[in-house]
Amino acid sequence: MRIGIGYDIHRLEEGRRLVLGGVEIPSPVGLAGHSDADAVLHAIADAVLGAAALGDIGDHFPNNCSRWCNADSATILEAVLKMAAARQLKVCNVDVNVVAEWPKLGPRKGQIRANVASLLGLPPDRVSIKARTAEGLGPVGRREAIEVHAVVLMEEVTPQ
Ligand code: MG
Repeated sequence: MRIGIGYDIHRLEEGRRLVLGGVEIPSPVGLAGHSDADAVLHAIADAVLGAAALGDIGDHFPNNCSRWCNADSATILEAVLKMAAARQLKVCNVDVNVVAEWPKLGPRKGQIRANVASLLGLPPDRVSIKARTAEGLGPVGRREAIEVHAVVLMEEVTPQ
């Protein structure tokens, strides 16, 4: 078994789409970034890279690379899962904390969970998406950013 930790933070800006876990959430503000800025998928991808000791998301998907401009982050996660699979590693489960003062994510948690499970090829009972606020503290509390933490457990599988 191997454990990986991932973290991401993106600024909230007016006029951007808000995409979390591959789910577009109706919101007056969205996350700024070179890709679709999906902080949930970025944190999970970083956790997978961490478990596999394959560096970090910036090593593989540099934000000066035009190929990833406005990229669907599902393609980034897919590429990372392939890199891990080449090392005979597959995801057992994932636990995610989304810290956002607004918009309210509670009603969307189930949809995000189902979509992340589908992207990881896991049953939903192996995917946990938790949402909380920052109690008004710091940049997240001031509604300037959304922050995500992810932990992934991976197991080594013997090649068939
Ligand atoms: Mg990111």
